[in-house]
Amino acid sequence: MTDSPYDAIEKRTQEAKRLDGTAVATEIREGLRSRIDAFCQKAGRPPTLGILLAGNDPGSEIYVRNKMKTGEDLGMVTDLHRLGDNASLDEALTIVRSFNDSPQHDGILVQSPLPQGMGADAEKQVFDAIDPTKDVDGFSPVNVGRLIQNREALTPCTPTGIMELLKRCEIEISGRQVVVIGRSDIVGKPMAALLLHKNATVTICHSRTVNLAQAASTADILVAAIGRPAFVRREFVKPGATVIDVGMNRLDDRAEVEDIFGPESRKLAAFDKRGSVVTGDVHPEVGAVAGALTPVPGGVGPLTIAMLMSNTIRAAELRLAETDRQL
Ligand code: NAP
Repeated sequence: MTDSPYDAIEKRTQEAKRLDGTAVATEIREGLRSRIDAFCQKAGRPPTLGILLAGNDPGSEIYVRNKMKTGEDLGMVTDLHRLGDNASLDEALTIVRSFNDSPQHDGILVQSPLPQGMGADAEKQVFDAIDPTKDVDGFSPVNVGRLIQNREALTPCTPTGIMELLKRCEIEISGRQVVVIGRSDIVGKPMAALLLHKNATVTICHSRTVNLAQAASTADILVAAIGRPAFVRREFVKPGATVIDVGMNRLDDRAEVEDIFGPESRKLAAFDKRGSVVTGDVHPEVGAVAGALTPVPGGVGPLTIAMLMSNTIRAAELRLAETDRQL
């Protein structure tokens, strides 16, 4: 392959320290094994995750398969209940309530999105119905409130995984300026709360933020959770900043891949082989400015599943401790 300006960008990309989410996720998972063994011995059964998968979304199929495989590899039980595309909200709620009432189920996961036919409010109603002590996604209002108050809580997996990554990569949080772009309930807002509790000064930006690049460029740590491929450009980033790219965007337009990564890039070669590639919210040129950067894939994604496992064993331990206390 020839040397193009894009290659130069790709080479400089390697200058930012690569924050290896895959390696950290492996460490997290391995750290759970002894806790899972101890739980099995004490409870006489493995920790168990109940999963509801409704509809035929191909992405959800893959996510659920990966979650089940990871859980089973660790010695947990995963109990999948499926509903068809035409299932009703009542059917979904009945499954959630059966998981709530089951003494065997320690965690409950409802894979998002639910089928549209269940109604615009369905996810809210289903998440509200999950017993907060089994809410391993940390989406129930009780856990969200506890997070905001900095009390013991099950917290959303993606931002909690990012906190683990920052800790294990020894990136200082206290006293630093942090900018989170995105204010969703599953990433942006809980991310900001977790960072605030570690004494960062946090700014949350969104689609109505004026002078977004300028606001972002004040950050020592910049978290991009936007859902727009390569949106964060060089001018958004303070030299030396740590950049966490949460975005997972599938590109199936060759011209767009070429525009972002260049005509001689590995991504374009991967596209030509597979017909699509996944890219983050951060443009590759940011690698020339940032001090440290998470890759996509291999950054935040693996941490999310590892933290789901971590939340499941935590929920199981807390329930066991509560049972012991009541005896
Ligand atoms: P979301 O609910 O769609 O939220 C996106 C946020 O980005 C919103 O707050 C939105 O602002 C903001 N935004 C959109 N366009 C913007 C713009 N032009 N300028 C500034 N802000 C803008 O998405 P999400 O669920 O948080 O996910 C974000 C990304 O992370 C997606 O790519 C998703 O696939 C990925 N993700 C990855 C993982 C993982 O495990 N790696 C987990 C979860 C999500 P408004 O609120 O003003 O609309």
